[in-house]
Amino acid sequence: MRDIVVAKFGGSSLADKDQFIKVKEIIVSDKNRRYIIPSAPGKRHSRDHKITDLLYMCHQLATHGLNFDEVYNVVEERYRGICTGLELELNIGEALGEIKSNIKEGASKDYCGSRGEYLNGLILSNYLGFQFIDPKNLILFNDRGQLEEEKTEMLIGEKLKDVKYAVIPGFYGAKENGDIVTFSRGGSDVTGSVIANGVKASLYENWTDVSGFLMADPRIVENPKTIEVITYKELRELSYMGAPVLHEESIFPVKKHGIPINIRNTNSPEDHGTMIVDDSTTEKPRKITGIAGRKDFTVINIEKALMNEEKGFLRKAISVFETNGISIEHIPSGMDTVSVVAANTELNGKIDKIKEELRIYCNPDTITHDTNMALIAVVGRGMAKTKGISGKVFTALGNSDINVRMITQGSSKLINIIIGIDNEDFEKAMESIYRAFENE
Ligand code: ASP
Repeated sequence: MRDIVVAKFGGSSLADKDQFIKVKEIIVSDKNRRYIIPSAPGKRHSRDHKITDLLYMCHQLATHGLNFDEVYNVVEERYRGICTGLELELNIGEALGEIKSNIKEGASKDYCGSRGEYLNGLILSNYLGFQFIDPKNLILFNDRGQLEEEKTEMLIGEKLKDVKYAVIPGFYGAKENGDIVTFSRGGSDVTGSVIANGVKASLYENWTDVSGFLMADPRIVENPKTIEVITYKELRELSYMGAPVLHEESIFPVKKHGIPINIRNTNSPEDHGTMIVDDSTTEKPRKITGIAGRKDFTVINIEKALMNEEKGFLRKAISVFETNGISIEHIPSGMDTVSVVAANTELNGKIDKIKEELRIYCNPDTITHDTNMALIAVVGRGMAKTKGISGKVFTALGNSDINVRMITQGSSKLINIIIGIDNEDFEKAMESIYRAFENE
């Protein structure tokens, strides 16, 4: 692979002029940072607005024939402020005016939402002296709004072949007919990954406002350590439980060629952040990589004598959940029992109906439910090869007087243990598991 770094900067990294200055310093300090993907300006403080939200609001107002000047003025002011602050000669007013009239004339929601990135891209390219490349000519979507992966990969390879340095706005591309299409919210992460794949980058840097992933949620566990290296698979296991730092879909494009993603902090560029790598990494892992969890799951317990001899029992039970449109998290089972675990939000208001249908289809001896379960995932690629990790997890829980209600565990390539406990034990359990492993 060539030494090409694709660097994506998130909304908080480009929220105002001071952040732009930091970003430029980062970019010019490594000449391999060749393709830069900006998000739209994000919040400068907790009560501020994200530009993308304001643009969607303009679209909403315009759709209802309402005046959106006041909201659009806030957008304009933000961009003008950045340009003046950086003393750019760029005529951003022209682009702002054109976008405003397009919104007035009924431009699509995706077009409106994407303009935050577009404008930030114009500014950043001007500030860096890099070429501006509109992703509408690089990232192709089909008529159903799905990414055309192969065509996009080819387009990027071709069009960036002779471009040494470029700024490519995140979050959007276009259909063949030129209509703008965006990824889902937070999708500039995906753009970065798609570009990294297309140019066969050696590294995809994702610059944000934290120094990588932490081993546990800092709102629950005090001062958790940063995860230095995590595999794509481990990240999937953890992110399904915890707060996402990275858009879920941004793993797949880089995974194809094993391009690592490095989460970095624009406000603390000396930190190494977290490296997200392929499974084949050779370094010796920690015993566990991270812990994540969520409260509020329901367990439905179905009991029936000689269940294991009855053909199709499980299928019938599961089909009840399927026809009710409920996605299931886990199905732990015993000889004569099977439990189905689903998030409370999935089951909202449907539990009685489901129990009734289970009674009809499965004719169980008993059926009970409990809405008070929390799940914790303990994740680590080191688990498969190290003895005593689960012992240590359960000892920690036992010592904290926590009752374990469910355990499930992957078997072939063991990288996680999932533990069900009462909601009220959640924080204590996270803390005790983390402390048991923090120095190992
Ligand atoms: N600006 C878009 C959003 O707020 C995309 C992104 O920031 O990645 O969702």
